[in-house]
Amino acid sequence: MEHVDVAIVGGGPAGSSAGRAAALEGADTVVIEKGVPRADREGLGPDSTDAAGILDYWVDIMDIDISEVPDGVILQELSGTDFIGPTETVQLNATGIDASYHHFGFTFHRARMDDWLRERAEDAGAEYRVGTGVRSVESDLTGTPLHTLTLKDGSEIETPHLVLADGPQRTVSGQVLTDLLPGGEFERLSPPTANHIAYQEYREFPEELFERDRLKFWWGYMPGHTAYPWVFPNDGTVARVGLTMPIGMDIDAVANREEYALLRPEDERIPSGKVYVERILDLAYPEYDLDDFPLVKDRGKRDGTETYPISSTRPIESPTRANVAVVGGAMGATSAFHEGGDHVAMRTGKIAGRLAGMDAMRAYNSEWQEAIGDEVLRNVVMAEMVHDFGPRDWDRTFKLINAIMGEDGYKPRDAASQGLYGAKMFAGYTKRKYGYRDGRYCQIREDEYAV
Ligand SMILES: Cc1cc2nc3c(=O)[nH]c(=O)nc-3n(C[C@H](O)[C@H](O)[C@H](O)COP(=O)(O)OP(=O)(O)OC[C@H]3O[C@@H](n4cnc5c(N)ncnc54)[C@H](O)[C@@H]3O)c2cc1C
Repeated sequence: MEHVDVAIVGGGPAGSSAGRAAALEGADTVVIEKGVPRADREGLGPDSTDAAGILDYWVDIMDIDISEVPDGVILQELSGTDFIGPTETVQLNATGIDASYHHFGFTFHRARMDDWLRERAEDAGAEYRVGTGVRSVESDLTGTPLHTLTLKDGSEIETPHLVLADGPQRTVSGQVLTDLLPGGEFERLSPPTANHIAYQEYREFPEELFERDRLKFWWGYMPGHTAYPWVFPNDGTVARVGLTMPIGMDIDAVANREEYALLRPEDERIPSGKVYVERILDLAYPEYDLDDFPLVKDRGKRDGTETYPISSTRPIESPTRANVAVVGGAMGATSAFHEGGDHVAMRTGKIAGRLAGMDAMRAYNSEWQEAIGDEVLRNVVMAEMVHDFGPRDWDRTFKLINAIMGEDGYKPRDAASQGLYGAKMFAGYTKRKYGYRDGRYCQIREDEYAV
């Protein structure tokens, strides 16, 4: 049987970053990626979710030298983001967080970024094996941990250090963690109930409508927590128009459904992603027809469209006593609030890979919390605060934010002086932040694992 020092399941941003870091420590490292076809990539590669935007301070969290990113990866430099509520709009032109990157952020070509991360892992000496996924993992924890991976072609790989980077579907990490959580705690993270679904289309925009330096999000237009449509500028005048929403919503359970601009009285079920995209284009650009935004069919996964699961749980700690680190989307590091996750995937992957390569995985949970804890805490708290928001709540909150907005963004503490609602929001924010201090935002703690 093949034996390696470090085996990594999944070759997305987290897995490639882990592979590079482990190989840089001199470890014999393999990254196993099942391989997904895309219209805009030759051959199989990772499952590159091409809805990619990065904020200025995320670049520091990624911990990469941005000048090394090859040409063609970054598509547009951003000056800001528009959050559009039913009647109130917030224009955010600064994140308000210190950052070494000098624009508001950028959009990027995710497949090219992933290919570059893979190249870096390979240059460092990791093997990136694509085309056959991991079917199962058996772990022998009776002495020094030893994990045996069985691939879909029946071949086996044995390793003392396992990094699980298989994304939000957790096909392999779910199995490994379920075995270590005999009390059924993994149920809380079960993908069909805990995940969102995201859908997007590549559409050519009329030149006069294309805002190349702004992201746009519409809040309070469709029901469901963390449910919103967006427009992201790509290259040329192509934009990705998409949305995210919880899986399995029942339209009859939606309170005040007439308040949601993207629902119609005749809807018998929650509209499909495709219908939502058509409705947001119609609503946002009423003088234009859908035909004015033709689908760009040679992009994305297939025919100019993409559908993805997206993790919407809080992050989990890893069973490091078993020499297992769960990273990126698989650990729930993607924010349930704004869906951003490439930055935390790359960072957690890097930390896990380095520690695996050094045979020091016990430090993983404290190191990732040190590196991305502030970001996670902020996002977990925000996601919770807006969880039950309806259209009116969005308007009210955007009004509040506009009242405290400065040139450098806004500070939540300034809300405290903005009347009763501002004081209530700020008190809720600080109370939750306190409640989730010191890693309490984790949905599973290390001592819950039976290792
Ligand atoms: C619609 C959408 C929009 C998003 N927008 C943004 C954004 O604007 N900015 C941002 O920063 N983040 C964004 N994200 C989040 C970001 O895509 C994720 O956080 C990031 O991809 C997580 O990286 P990862 O490597 O952990 O997982 P993934 O990118 O999901 O990679 C996991 C990899 O594991 C592979 N795999 C799975 N199972 C197996 C197996 N059994 N064997 C072998 N390989 C396997 C998959 O093929 C895949 O390549 C968005 C996500 C979605 C869905």
